[in-house]
Amino acid sequence: MPHECISVFDIFKIGVGPSSSHTLGPWRAAMRFIGELEATGKLASVQQLSILLYGSLAKTGHGHGTDIAIQLGLSGEDPVTCDVNDIDAKVEKIRRDKQLHLHGQFTIGFDPLTDIQFLYDESLPFHPNALTFLVTLQDGEQLASTWYSIGGGFVVKEGEIAGGGKNNVDLPFPVDTARQLLQWCIKTGYSISELVMENETAWRSEADTKAGVLRIWEVMRDCIYRGCHTTGELPGGLKVGRRAAALNLKLLKGRTYTDYNSWVEAIRAGGEHFSYTLDWVSCFALAVNEENASFGRVVTAPTNGAAGVIPAVLQYFITFCDGLHTEKIIQFVLTASEVGSIFKKRATISAAMGGCQAEIGVSSAMAAAALTECMGGSQRQVLMAAEIAMEHHLGLTCDPIGGLVQVPCIERNTMGAIKAITASQLALQSNPELAKVSLDAVVKTMWETAQDMNSKYKETSDGGLAVNIPISLPEC
Ligand code: SF4
Repeated sequence: MPHECISVFDIFKIGVGPSSSHTLGPWRAAMRFIGELEATGKLASVQQLSILLYGSLAKTGHGHGTDIAIQLGLSGEDPVTCDVNDIDAKVEKIRRDKQLHLHGQFTIGFDPLTDIQFLYDESLPFHPNALTFLVTLQDGEQLASTWYSIGGGFVVKEGEIAGGGKNNVDLPFPVDTARQLLQWCIKTGYSISELVMENETAWRSEADTKAGVLRIWEVMRDCIYRGCHTTGELPGGLKVGRRAAALNLKLLKGRTYTDYNSWVEAIRAGGEHFSYTLDWVSCFALAVNEENASFGRVVTAPTNGAAGVIPAVLQYFITFCDGLHTEKIIQFVLTASEVGSIFKKRATISAAMGGCQAEIGVSSAMAAAALTECMGGSQRQVLMAAEIAMEHHLGLTCDPIGGLVQVPCIERNTMGAIKAITASQLALQSNPELAKVSLDAVVKTMWETAQDMNSKYKETSDGGLAVNIPISLPEC
């Protein structure tokens, strides 16, 4: 079996909320499918197109904007660059005109209400997040193409091997487990982030990796800042109000700032009192996930639902631990990515496969590890921090109310961030040689727990809070 190679830019991807598996993944599948039609010269002769959504994509697809993402992807919009303020208007135009401009080039008749079918009672065996594109060409030929959104925005086409494709390169330090990672670090003397940087050079120059990582941070930073300054109600009909902006204003005693740097300085000037710091960590996480729930631009970290944990902990480090240094930010992101990769390779980062432990749990472990390295922890302490953070998310279920990534998701990011900071502190104050549980053991435990978990708790909204909180959402 080929060794799976995962780059920092596979784990951290710029995209649009609210869900990496239900929004970004289907969006990317639609883009790839359209790209294939174009490459084979069939795009111009498409006469009719419909989409079937299975399993978790059907059950929570409305709330997660799966149908919207697919229409945008088929229209040639890129989640990295599209204007998120135009999304509503574009989708409304398709609905009103009953026309889709494939790849922005060829117009076909398309009614989202009938041409996107949510098959609530059907699942495909490979993965709960499946979708099929059905196409009729002008000469009568029919095509069917099935794709799986396997978590974190990763997609595979039917027949492809996840991770076994063209992303593979010869890494100087191949890593599948925490044990291998530690062995390489001991052998080379590298920190975890230094080892990751060496591996990244198999794809691109160090300068390009650094530039890309800083671009990732810019998007995270802008998302925090925007979320801390945007009021109103979140979309979807659950009538959840945004809280980050009000909390931001309260903590700053009503003062406002016009740019990120002066805002951070003002936060710092407020001191380091425990409850003040805690409020800010929550505020940063709320801000990102309120943006995510509003189809805003976010970074998968490693997923959209959990997109607030890592930015909140990094912003905490920058604000309260004097971490506003380019090299430190790069170190943070690279370390976090390696821990995310190990979970992806040995367990899952998909809530439809493993519940919320696979999203918030993994993001918390990533953040804990990154913070620990940036605070001067040894490689063993870094791995210990990741282990502690995941250990206390084991069994966490996914039960979003109304299939929306809002309740419990937004607050859950605050919990993941706080647990990450606590895990890091514990690891920094501990002797990792005495730890009873290794990171590899907790990864294995998370995966076994995922496999034993009832499907009601795997992003289906068939159990938990999703069925115990009465709501009435508008008809889709
Ligand atoms: S409950 Fe957790 S895993 Fe499920 S959608 Fe919300 S954040 Fe994602």
